[in-house]
Formats: sequence, structure tokens, C-alpha cells
Amino acid sequence: MQTFRYSKPSSIDQALSGAPAAKFLAGGTTLVDLMKLNVEQPQTLVDINLLPLSKIEHLPSGGLRIGALVRNSDLAWNTDVKESYAVLSQAILSGASPQLRNMATVGGNLLQRTRCAYFREPASGTPGGYGCNKRTPGTGCAALQGLHRTHAVFGTSNQCIATHPSDMCVAMAALDAEIHVQGPKGKRTIPFADFHKLPGNTPHIENALEPGELVTYVDLPKPVEGARSVYLKLRDRASYEFALASAAVVVRIESGHILYARVALGGVGTKPWRSHEAEAELQGKPANAATFHKAAEAALAAAKPRTDNTFKVELARRCLVRTLKLATA
Ligand SMILES: Cc1cc2nc3c(=O)[nH]c(=O)nc-3n(C[C@H](O)[C@H](O)[C@H](O)COP(=O)(O)OP(=O)(O)OC[C@H]3O[C@@H](n4cnc5c(N)ncnc54)[C@H](O)[C@@H]3O)c2cc1C
Repeated sequence: MQTFRYSKPSSIDQALSGAPAAKFLAGGTTLVDLMKLNVEQPQTLVDINLLPLSKIEHLPSGGLRIGALVRNSDLAWNTDVKESYAVLSQAILSGASPQLRNMATVGGNLLQRTRCAYFREPASGTPGGYGCNKRTPGTGCAALQGLHRTHAVFGTSNQCIATHPSDMCVAMAALDAEIHVQGPKGKRTIPFADFHKLPGNTPHIENALEPGELVTYVDLPKPVEGARSVYLKLRDRASYEFALASAAVVVRIESGHILYARVALGGVGTKPWRSHEAEAELQGKPANAATFHKAAEAALAAAKPRTDNTFKVELARRCLVRTLKLATA
């Protein structure tokens, strides 16, 4: 771990004054690990824990505003979230461990980085180390020919196939969340679908934040009346493990037909993977097993697995069918 400067401002303006060179420290559950591994080497850490961003508030529109410093546990156990955005509560509670969720924040969860072993290996991207374009552009991607059982089947490029690890983000993708940010140039709002970037030729650019921008809030739209939502996560062991495949579903059924459907997949994409293909298959159709299987076929049709993660295609299909059955039972 390299030495660094540390500050703990109490206002957003003060926090932004060190930008863009500084790195924000929230719960520290990802950043400190990565600093110990020398994957992240910030010269300045701005501890944002005193900023007034820890509230969950109702919006006049009927939606919910979640401060970037709301702890994952507080969000998951919030009564409004449990009742009106169950998929979000379930997704968060399926991740990490209670201790980690008590520290982890919404902002940090949005910005957590891949668990690809080559990315986290201290020597990757350095001469003699494994290639990792995310760490050091131009050094290659060791996962392409190496260990890639847990890697992505959607959104990959020949530069990077690392999976986005978040559960919370999969639910937020299905809920059409909006991310509010503030930086040296002012405030702006980013639709959730545009926040995380595909690797393409620039896998080191993971999100739409400009240097020095701080995530301030996440807004959830008004819940869809009569809708039910479910998150299901499949993994190598039942707890304290990242998803091999997961699905977040929000559906509204009337007279046996699906009037509203939002679907997102986790554990399979280089970013939280919204499936417009599945949604199109579900819209207006009878809520039965045949429809769910068609939707799952459509969702996985464009998947591009590699040798060791081919199983993820069938796993994700089954995961989505099962989630739809649970949401419509
Ligand atoms: C052992 C282990 C198991 C885990 N299992 C899971 C799992 O199963 N599912 C899952 O989804 N996650 C899992 N996680 C990841 C966990 O959810 C994240 O570590 C956590 O959400 C990060 O939040 P944090 O507040 O601690 O972020 P930090 O570590 O403080 O920060 C992470 C990144 O976000 C940036 N950042 C933080 N807040 C802001 C902000 N407001 N604006 C701009 N930048 C910001 C930081 O600069 C840093 O780059 C696991 C983590 C560990 C250590």
C-alpha cells in the first residue's frame, strides 16, 4: 500500500475542492482492499462519511430519493423499500455479509469494481505480470485464454470480459433508477442504463462519471401500481458469494396477462444487464411457463460464452424462468 493524504470534509463543496485528483472513501469495503493490493493508488483520500447524504426521502413524484451514503443494510431493511421495491431489498440482502452491508454504501456499491482475479492480482498490468487492460491499457486480457468460468457472456470485447459484480445494481437497472452526481462543473443526472460503460476498447473507463464527480443520490421512480418484484441469485455457495447468474424482475399482471415487465440480469454482463428482449417477449402475453421460457430464450439469444463459462447461458435462462414464476405466483 502506498502512502496517501487523508481528509474528512463536512460539506459537499469542501469534498469537491480536492477533485479531480482525489478518490472518495465511503464504506471502504472495496477501495481499501484494492489499495492494499496496489490496484488503486490514490494520492489523496477524501472521506465522505460526514457529508449530508445518508437519508432516504420521499419525492413529490411518489418515488424515493436515496442518499449516496445510505448503508446497504439500512436501504435493504427500509420499510418503503421492502414494500414497494422488494427486488432492491432482496438483491442487497443476497450480497456480501451482514458486516459488509452495514459498512457498504449505495455510492460505493454502484462503483464497486470487478472481481476478475487477473484485475485484482497485484502484479497484473505490470511487466512480467498478467495482462489486464482494465488495470493498464494495452497489456492484454489474460482472462480470454485463462480462467474465465465466472466471466461475462454479454457486453464483452476482445479487450475485457470481466463481469460486473453488483447485485444492487441489477435491481436498480430493472427499476429504471436515476443517478444524481455533483462535480467541479456542477450537478447532472444520469439514467441508470447510461451509468456503467461497456469495455469496448477502453475497459479502464467503467462509468459515466467525470473526474472528481461525486454520486449524491439515486432516485427510484414511483412504484408501478400492482406490480410485484423478485431478485433471484444463483452462485457456487448459498451465502457470501458473487452471482454466477441472477435475475431482477418487476411485473404487473392483470387478468392473467403481463401488462408491465422489466427484466435485468446479473453475473453475466460486463455491466448490469437490462434485457429489453425478454421484456418485449413478456409484454401483453399470458403469464405462463411457455411465455417465461420464450422470454428467457430471447434474453440469452445474443450471449457470447467462452470455453469455461458456456454453462452460464443455460443457468441464466433457468434463473430468469424461475424468477418470473416466483414473481407471478
Ligand atoms: C468479501 C466481500 C464480498 C462481497 N460480496 C458481494 C456480493 O455478493 N454482491 C455485491 O453486490 N457486492 C459484494 N461485495 C462488494 C460490496 O458490495 C462493496 O464492497 C460495497 O458495496 C462498496 O461500498 P463502499 O461504500 O464500501 O465503497 P468504497 O470501498 O468506499 O468505495 C468503492 C468505490 O466507490 C467510490 N465511491 C464511493 N462512494 C462514492 C460516491 N458517493 N461518489 C463517487 N465515488 C464514490 C470510491 O472512490 C471507490 O472507488 C463484496 C465485498 C467483499 C469485500
